Amino acid sequence: MTEKMTSQQAMELEDKYGAHNYHPLPVVLSMGKGVFMWDAEGKRYYDFLSAYSAVNQGHCHPKIVNALIEQAGTLELTSRAFYNNVLGTYEKFITDFFGFDKVLPMNSGAEGDETALKLCRKWAYKVKGIAENKAKIICCENNFHGRTISVISMSTDPMAREDFGPFTPGFITIPYNDLKALEKALEDPEVAGFLVEPIQGEAGVFVPDEGYLKKAYTMCKSKNVLFIADEVQTGIGRTGKLLACDWEGFKPDILILGKALSGGVYPVSAVLADDPIMLTIRPGEHGSTFGGNPIAAKVAIAALTVIKDEELTENAYNMGIIFREELKKIDSPMIELIRGKGLLNATVIKPMNGKTAWDVCLKMRDNGLLAKPTHDHIIRFAPPLIINEEQVHEAVEIIRVSLKSFE
Ligand SMILES: *Cc1c(COP(=O)(O)O)cnc(C)c1O
Repeated sequence: MTEKMTSQQAMELEDKYGAHNYHPLPVVLSMGKGVFMWDAEGKRYYDFLSAYSAVNQGHCHPKIVNALIEQAGTLELTSRAFYNNVLGTYEKFITDFFGFDKVLPMNSGAEGDETALKLCRKWAYKVKGIAENKAKIICCENNFHGRTISVISMSTDPMAREDFGPFTPGFITIPYNDLKALEKALEDPEVAGFLVEPIQGEAGVFVPDEGYLKKAYTMCKSKNVLFIADEVQTGIGRTGKLLACDWEGFKPDILILGKALSGGVYPVSAVLADDPIMLTIRPGEHGSTFGGNPIAAKVAIAALTVIKDEELTENAYNMGIIFREELKKIDSPMIELIRGKGLLNATVIKPMNGKTAWDVCLKMRDNGLLAKPTHDHIIRFAPPLIINEEQVHEAVEIIRVSLKSFE
């Protein structure tokens, strides 16, 4: 029955029986392979969203899918009530991969952020010596860290917050990319951490000034404040370095990963830190039934191995340069700005003749490329990192023709 369903029927079903918490672009996808997805009618599209950078390794990567299938048929879940014979191998693998003493495995990105907040608070009381319930964490305007209550308590987006209060206290919000504001906020001795996205993804791929992150890190160090990097979207090769923090050559105190940690095959997130921080959480104080399950562990090892073996970080760096160069050649009054790093890019769209970023995305869909507007006037371009040069040129041509059609 599912196979015979038309796109129209599939959309009607979602609309009738699903909560209306998303506003999808009208396209119904039924298959994915590499940089492409196909709709229910068999039309092929370039995927320029990559499930918000979860599918960095390309759709249905055989090595990742096989890891999933093999482990699912062997041992799927034990809970952490017992040991399993896969988790330790994964923990060694991922801590070696990113250079930390320890990992705390979770499932979604939001849970990773929640875990990092709890870890930072625990460290504040156990190590830094902040008085009970007084610890504060600095966050940035226009952040996106997920959708749970504590995470949206840090949000400055009215849509994320409205009618969801009361909110979790203990956060100080400062403007992003503003070292003066950070310096001032750090004067408060009750501050324990600074949580930041190295590039703000959901805000519209907002790239901070060169040197901002490193300087912020140094300032945090001088005040004994933990630098917490949310690399759920920017991490794992996306920006042309393994981590976006690598662009400025420093290691955050707490690192949050998600999305591409599984190549989009399974929900896997992780929080990494060194012993003096991570060991402040003791048995029974935090956890998740599914966190660190054998399937997630095997899938994450495979997903990270693919990044390394196929040199996807290097490819993201190289293809990103070509993509932005080619995009800049498009002569369209609708392109106000192009920005990004590696294969995390965005254009700010100036509406023309009443046509907005949404209309541009509909037109690109018609022409065979899928992207989604963020904040009405910005389109993010983030294809899987396996994209090759010929495909970059073909995709830019689709974007060009689509924009031109509005003139
Ligand atoms: C997507 C995202 C999250 C949330 O991840 P979920 O898996 O959707 O909970 C957190 N932080 C950043 C930077 C993200 O891009």
